[in-house]
Amino acid sequence: MTDTQWVYLFSEVEQAEEHVGNDWEKVRELLGGKGANLAEMTRINLPVPAGFTVTTEACNAYLEAGNNFPTGMWEQELDAMKGVEEQTGKKFGDPSNPLLVSCRSGAKFSMPGMMDTVLNIGLNDKTAASLAKIRDDESFVYDSYRRLVQMFGSVVLNISDVIFEDVLDEYKEEKGVKLDTDLTTADWKAITEKFKVIIREHKGFDFPQDPYEQLRLATEAVFTSWFGKRAVDYRNAAGISHDLGTAVNIVTMVFGNMGSDSGTGVAFTRDPATGEKIIYGDYLINAQGEDVVAGIRNTEKIENLGNDLPQAYKEFIDICDQLEAHYKEMQDVEFTIENRKLWMLQTRDGKRTAKAAVKIAIDMANEGLISKEEAVMRVTPEQVDTLLHPQFDDNAKNEAESSGKLYASGVNASPGAAVGQIYFDADKSEHMALEEGKDVIMVRPFTKPDDVHGMLAAKGILTSEGGATSHAAVVARQFGVPCVVGAAEIRIDLENLQMDVGGNVVKEGDWISVDGTSGQVFLGRIPTIEPILEEQTDLLTLLTWADAITAVPGMRVSPEGWPTAGLQVWANADYPADARRARSYGAIGIGLCRTEHMFFEQERLPIVQRMILSDSSEERQAALSELLPYQRSDFEGLFEAMDGCPVIIRLIDPPLHEFLPAEEELLEEVITMRVKGETAGLAEKEELLGKVQAMHESNPMMGLRGVRLSIYMPEIVEMQVRAIFEASANQTLAGVSVKPEVMIPLTGTVKELEWIQPRLIRIANQVMEEKNITFDYKFGTMIEIPRAAVTATEIAEVAEFFSFGTNDLTQMTFGYSRDDAERNFLIQYVEEGILPENPFQTLDQEGVGRLMEFSVNDGRATRPDLEVGICGEHGGDPASIEFCHLIGNNYVSCSPFRVPIARLAAAHAAIKHKGVIVPAN
Ligand code: PEP
Ligand code: MG
Repeated sequence: MTDTQWVYLFSEVEQAEEHVGNDWEKVRELLGGKGANLAEMTRINLPVPAGFTVTTEACNAYLEAGNNFPTGMWEQELDAMKGVEEQTGKKFGDPSNPLLVSCRSGAKFSMPGMMDTVLNIGLNDKTAASLAKIRDDESFVYDSYRRLVQMFGSVVLNISDVIFEDVLDEYKEEKGVKLDTDLTTADWKAITEKFKVIIREHKGFDFPQDPYEQLRLATEAVFTSWFGKRAVDYRNAAGISHDLGTAVNIVTMVFGNMGSDSGTGVAFTRDPATGEKIIYGDYLINAQGEDVVAGIRNTEKIENLGNDLPQAYKEFIDICDQLEAHYKEMQDVEFTIENRKLWMLQTRDGKRTAKAAVKIAIDMANEGLISKEEAVMRVTPEQVDTLLHPQFDDNAKNEAESSGKLYASGVNASPGAAVGQIYFDADKSEHMALEEGKDVIMVRPFTKPDDVHGMLAAKGILTSEGGATSHAAVVARQFGVPCVVGAAEIRIDLENLQMDVGGNVVKEGDWISVDGTSGQVFLGRIPTIEPILEEQTDLLTLLTWADAITAVPGMRVSPEGWPTAGLQVWANADYPADARRARSYGAIGIGLCRTEHMFFEQERLPIVQRMILSDSSEERQAALSELLPYQRSDFEGLFEAMDGCPVIIRLIDPPLHEFLPAEEELLEEVITMRVKGETAGLAEKEELLGKVQAMHESNPMMGLRGVRLSIYMPEIVEMQVRAIFEASANQTLAGVSVKPEVMIPLTGTVKELEWIQPRLIRIANQVMEEKNITFDYKFGTMIEIPRAAVTATEIAEVAEFFSFGTNDLTQMTFGYSRDDAERNFLIQYVEEGILPENPFQTLDQEGVGRLMEFSVNDGRATRPDLEVGICGEHGGDPASIEFCHLIGNNYVSCSPFRVPIARLAAAHAAIKHKGVIVPAN
């Protein structure tokens, strides 16, 4: 015998809580989400059919033991069946009053339709015959029996479901009927017998008549479905751990297909697309649950249930309110009404669009259900990302509509704009997207869990059947793929790989545009536009709440000089227009202005080239004097846009050859001219080639760039500093509050700073003297080279601020070229698990992060009020932002477009680690 409790009745939730130390998350882990919530609904006296849960621990033990039940589990399952028999007054396998159950999977996190379900377990030749008499409804009972044999054959015995469906279709055709409901008892009996033959022919044994054998095999099938291909694919995509296992829920059957006073449905307690506070769902009278979810029959809107079955509907609405008040979350529920009696079969936190997530969080906080902090935590940075995704340009859409390009309309299941070429099956969609690099719209009559790999690879999804709760809709919403479902005018011809609306045929590979926000489908390609954040008032409210939370002093407990509030969010912006966008997106500083970008503009590049190639100091100065006004006016624009905020301007960084024509191209031109005997301009070209060749470096990223270039050729940065301070002075005189911070890139030793910085400060002071004005400024450096990180103590003697250039710091710490690694080995490294993530996207906390942590600690030991930020790509990555919070950064700086994401991520870090002592030790 064993002490482990593998099985819990729904009425035993307290025992489960006790087993895991009264932690609800752990109860969910043990009983799975479905089982835990069925038990919870039982506890708060909602109408849940009697049943029990076999734990995820049992599943894991079963799989680990090479598909063998752990000791004692089956005995406990049999005992639990006795408990259910007592609660229902029915007996499993007893023809005089048979108990029927369903066997359903249920992992900690919902994986819609990814694992297996078997209904009507307990029916066999004898119980079916007697039940038909008891219920006085032979047709219903034999329909149920054939469903059991069919599901058992496909789910438990792995016979393709198509074989069963074909028999059903042939039979209907033979009888000249269209609907299942038109078939008679005799038909169902005959079909059941045919199904049994299929099992015998495929498996060499009979469909088991022993209900306990059915139960045992169904339990095993659910356990093993945890590692079924579609479940594994789904978990990989959703980031769900493979070692959680699934629970098995055995639930007394209730029937929604017992006539016009029965039905079944699914609903959300708020609209999952918009977040509006209305019950949103579908139902079918005289149907079983699978019929609604599969989206095969066209469903009714939930509000009409009030007309069909008013009493049950009223009770259902009350229960929805009760569930929201209890869970303080929008719920996704399943119910069945059997002869007017309502039964709740499931509740779980409802999946929703990003837009709905924001609205629901704000509304629930305003309703007093949750706090503002909880509201902020309810929305993920990824959801904010989705809200900043492209939408169709309204004008282009109207134009498309008036020129007859509107092809069809359906349910707007998952918002966003998608443009792509159509493919009609999941494998091909995946292939075209991943192997051929095409933008794919996957088109299907409806989708099934087997299709998920294609859906994930697609830019958009279109189905002709199903509603807002169909499989396609749920999965698309979860992964942020734009999706239109139930576009019923479209006739999809899977054989000829085309679709048709009134003779207008679109073939495989043709382009369409799918608007998941409006539900419209257009022919051809419609241009998309970036969404306007200013118009997204709910998101703006949430971000304002996030900022307020982050700004509270004491979010971090720190020594003197260290930040005590959370992270600020600054932006990387090179031009005034970028800065304005960054500010409107909520940035309160510029963390990186890459000045050299300004050198690439058409009218400036020739001057820059002249400056680089000049032979004498005079020539160089002349070119620099020409560049100065350009730089000054750029900086003036930047300061104006960021009035009152710090602006970090980085001095020139890249190797100079980046500004010159490519060596190979020049060589080719020179050779061609020589061969053709062209002499005009040849000498100049040859001279240019000579100079470019002389500047050639084998490893330019590790060569003459950054501060090395400034020391080698100080005139450039001297001009830049003059431009920065002249711009600052001019704007100060114009009434703008400027906070310039000059950043020296790629420092490796403090001696470099000691050499260059005093010269530059001299220029700064000179300008202030000339303009007869003073203002505060800072000089600081980027930490991009491991040696700088390791010698931060000394570097902070000179630098007044650090900014982690984690693009270079990652490159130099790993020794991976940031320009080449991703196209060579890096992706393979991630796939093979050698690296957990691409370190150029998500900070490598153990390596690069350690260097950062040392730098902050050592730097602040020298200069307690050292300002510390990050301006590499990682500054917009939520996991990296959390790390920056924990090591005591003052701010993160990222692309303007990622500022809203970073604001939310900064608040998440602050809330999650509230009061944590920084630096930790
Ligand atoms: C960095 O290296 O992280 C950085 C921000 O500088 P750049 O990308 O311009 O080298
Ligand atoms: Mg860099």
